[in-house]
Amino acid sequence: MTTRRGDDPRPLPSETALRLIMRRLREIMGEEGDGQDKLDRIVRQIAGVMVADVCSIYLKRQDGSLELFATEGLNPNAVHSTRLKRGEGLVGRCAELATIVNEPEASKHPAFSYRPETNEEIFHSLLAVPIERSGQVIGVLDVQNKTPKEYSDEDIEVLQATAMVIAENLASGRVEGTGAAIEVSRSQPMVLEGEPLSDGIALGHVVLHEPRIVVTQLLADNPAAEIERLDEALDKLQAHIDEMFEHEHLAGAGEHRDVLEAYRMFAHDKGWHKRLREAVQGGLTAEAAVERVQNTMRTRMLRQHDAYWRERQRDLDDLSDRLLRVLSGRIMSSDDASNLPPDTILVARTMGPAELLDYDRTRLRGLIVEDGSAQSHVAVVAKAIGIAALGQVAGVVDRVNSGDAAIVDAVAGEVHLRPSGEVIAAYSDKVRFRARKQKRYQALRDRPAVTKDGVRISVQMNAGLLVDMPHLAESGADGVGLYRTELQFMLSDSFPRLDKQTQHYRSVLNEAQGKPVVFRTLDIGGDKILPYLRQPAEENPAMGWRAIRMAIDRPELFRLQIRAMLKASEGRDLRIMIPMVTAGYEMIAIRALVDQELAFLKKHGYTLPKSLQLGAMFEVPSLLFDLDNFLPRVDFVSVGSNDLMQFLFAADRTNARVASRFDVLSQAPMRALKSLVKAAKKYKVPVTVCGEMAGSPLEAMTLIGLGLRSVSMAPASIGPVKAMILSLHAEKVTDCVEALMKEGAKDVRANLLKFAEIEGVEIDH
Ligand code: PEP
Ligand code: MG
Repeated sequence: MTTRRGDDPRPLPSETALRLIMRRLREIMGEEGDGQDKLDRIVRQIAGVMVADVCSIYLKRQDGSLELFATEGLNPNAVHSTRLKRGEGLVGRCAELATIVNEPEASKHPAFSYRPETNEEIFHSLLAVPIERSGQVIGVLDVQNKTPKEYSDEDIEVLQATAMVIAENLASGRVEGTGAAIEVSRSQPMVLEGEPLSDGIALGHVVLHEPRIVVTQLLADNPAAEIERLDEALDKLQAHIDEMFEHEHLAGAGEHRDVLEAYRMFAHDKGWHKRLREAVQGGLTAEAAVERVQNTMRTRMLRQHDAYWRERQRDLDDLSDRLLRVLSGRIMSSDDASNLPPDTILVARTMGPAELLDYDRTRLRGLIVEDGSAQSHVAVVAKAIGIAALGQVAGVVDRVNSGDAAIVDAVAGEVHLRPSGEVIAAYSDKVRFRARKQKRYQALRDRPAVTKDGVRISVQMNAGLLVDMPHLAESGADGVGLYRTELQFMLSDSFPRLDKQTQHYRSVLNEAQGKPVVFRTLDIGGDKILPYLRQPAEENPAMGWRAIRMAIDRPELFRLQIRAMLKASEGRDLRIMIPMVTAGYEMIAIRALVDQELAFLKKHGYTLPKSLQLGAMFEVPSLLFDLDNFLPRVDFVSVGSNDLMQFLFAADRTNARVASRFDVLSQAPMRALKSLVKAAKKYKVPVTVCGEMAGSPLEAMTLIGLGLRSVSMAPASIGPVKAMILSLHAEKVTDCVEALMKEGAKDVRANLLKFAEIEGVEIDH
């Protein structure tokens, strides 16, 4: 419903309106004047082009409130004095829910909030769009009209495109003076709290992680050249998707085919291509066009409430991200990696394990994320590569600038941003002190882990990358209790072929120099995603089609991996472990597949492993009620306490809100573990614990009290856990743990800590 200015009431085609606005915005940004002037000019301009009675910009402040920063049509005195509380009114709703508000009768809407100082009660209709930057709402742009009307899709597009330009210019500092709301705290020293994900203290400089490619250049100078870029990228995208489809692993009928077919159709959709081209013709760069079309289409799809549209929306998001990656060349180039400071502290809202691995590990010192929990895979990877990491650091992204000095203290759970000289000096001392302690642990390296009453505990190491393997000798671990094979797959651009896998497992065994290694087969799903292996989107991937479930249903990938492991261990001992086993009978199918591979290799004259043990992860609580079927079918068991606890407590391990709500040192988990230990003894099946709890001295002490004699953990935990074992009396801790279970003690952790203190058990934390 855009109209020409002046007396001509004929509607303008929206692309023309868009082009006009883009040109004017570009001019405004290039003009003299401070930030306030520019915002004032923008609102005037938009009100004119959209024939709106009001156009306003609100920006978010640190406390989440929205401050009126510029307006055309409302009372000018309200600028900088009107503040909407978080979520207040329709504008607050727009920011809080990151959603478009299009209300013909705004003042009648239940969420309408009347602000007398703005004189806005005379306006009927309102259209508000969030101003977003890197997926975060930083403000709201709205228009209002005196007459009741529903704004058209074109109006929405124009306003959204303007919001993008505003966001870009605010973030890049081109609109000086507007920093009051969003920049104020980015210059002061600041301490934020978080949950330790990976132990350590790191001093360094901030690098902001951008999870998806952020479109920086919005306006194109040469639309024709831009169309060419877009067309090329679309061709590449389609070719890539077609290729992905022809992949042998995706062949064959099944539900996934329908899902993938719909996705492919979307990629080839003429309507989508047309919209993208039109957006570029309207003056946007190809990247900005992808983003804008994604936003507009998402808005339309969200109006449909059925599952079909939700799926299409996911496809659209995925395709748009892919197209942005194609346009940008790649997610992370080696150039980017070498531009990192040598003491990088990575700061992110959210990060998956594969994304962390995209960075050059030799330059990473620390990681700070706004979500994340100690059990998430990004925490596992952070530990594996030995960087200090903190999760649940609320609001950190908005409080840092790249290049800021920062200290990650994953011992105390604190982040120091822009620390003073004294704080830096104090931390440098701390780091030196820790290094001395580390030296002490190193001195324990060659001492076997034996308790004071002579009980030998096997202390093993968790690994997942070849770079982890030198830690085996350095830490003095007895072996690798968990080798997470999926990490290698995550690092790869395509599914690693047989030879590549074989070579990898062979190198791991070589590096282990005869110490035992437990290879866990692929555990994909949940927060572990392989970019090249498209799986149907699932509502609950952690409880979805993952690990052994995939292995049984689609044995090709599994068999390939088993074959590689068998070939790699010719003449040596091989231990294979299956993740996410849910029922004893599943091991029958798995053993049959392994036997098939053994027979194949034998038939073709390969040297077989000297011995083969087939074990299972104990991660799903149903196994507790199937022990008599399960235990006779495995050669060993390893408790994946991260998953076991998430399923036992129904508390998502990656959801910071609930992950640390329940304590592993409490009655239910201890009793669960005790039942397993007891039954395993009956069936003579060795049990290890390889989840995160095994690496924490107090938890490891409790495990010994529960009868466990083997634990596996991140390399950095070996020293502290060994020191604990050497100072522990196994029988005494057994008595203590049993008494606590018998009496059903509530505060188990406090009691155990008291025990450790009285008995002089070294609990370093
Ligand atoms: C676990 O679940 O405890 C485990 C060791 O496996 P992962 O963390 O890789 O899921
Ligand atoms: Mg697990």
